[in-house]
Amino acid sequence: MKKHIFFDLDRTLWDFETNSHETLLEICEKYNLTNLGINNYADFIKKYKDINEKLWDLYRDNKITQKDLRRDRFQQTLSQYQITDFQLSEKIGEDYIDICPRKTKLFPYTIEVLDYLQSKYQLHIITNGFHKTQHIKLEHSNLTPYFHQIITSEKVGVKKPNPKIFEFSLSKVNASVEESVYIGDDLEVDVLGCQNCGIDGVYFNPKKIEHQENPKYEISCLSDLKGLF
Ligand SMILES: [Mg+2]
Repeated sequence: MKKHIFFDLDRTLWDFETNSHETLLEICEKYNLTNLGINNYADFIKKYKDINEKLWDLYRDNKITQKDLRRDRFQQTLSQYQITDFQLSEKIGEDYIDICPRKTKLFPYTIEVLDYLQSKYQLHIITNGFHKTQHIKLEHSNLTPYFHQIITSEKVGVKKPNPKIFEFSLSKVNASVEESVYIGDDLEVDVLGCQNCGIDGVYFNPKKIEHQENPKYEISCLSDLKGLF
């Protein structure tokens, strides 16, 4: 019988895409990037996202540090516009970290589903984000009270899909694999990651992306969880 439900945070409960997009637009306007030759903010944001994704992959594989990631993603984006003002990219990088986690857009039904699940299960978070940042997101979106344990890769020292973070989480809350389920939006990192440890995975797939894998459960809306648990 299931007793523990573990959630991913970014792109599963907290709407990373919307929150990040809003932040980047604010930053473009704050620094008046048009004056620096960036006329199309949508194009700037797209460039940033591509660069950020590549750097995140390197960070996930421990090839660069958190500090490198935070600095380089804006430095590299600005340099595509021949802007090499390192102080500016540093400042923008700091602003992004400051503003984005305070955004509060969640996926539809997040609160409703957490309200329903918390009366039946112990709920926890396992996230690859930075410890401080993830706590700010949870606080500002009023999610903190729902979760017994909030486990971040930064504190554990390894990132999903490394089995160690799932094993650490189970022992932290004194749960067996049979009693546990993990819900996340990343098929490889979240779902295959937990299933490799014997934990049932729920693939949150709002865009209904086609795939060849075998998640134990698959949902396209968080409200589907009410029918499963
Ligand atoms: Mg995620």
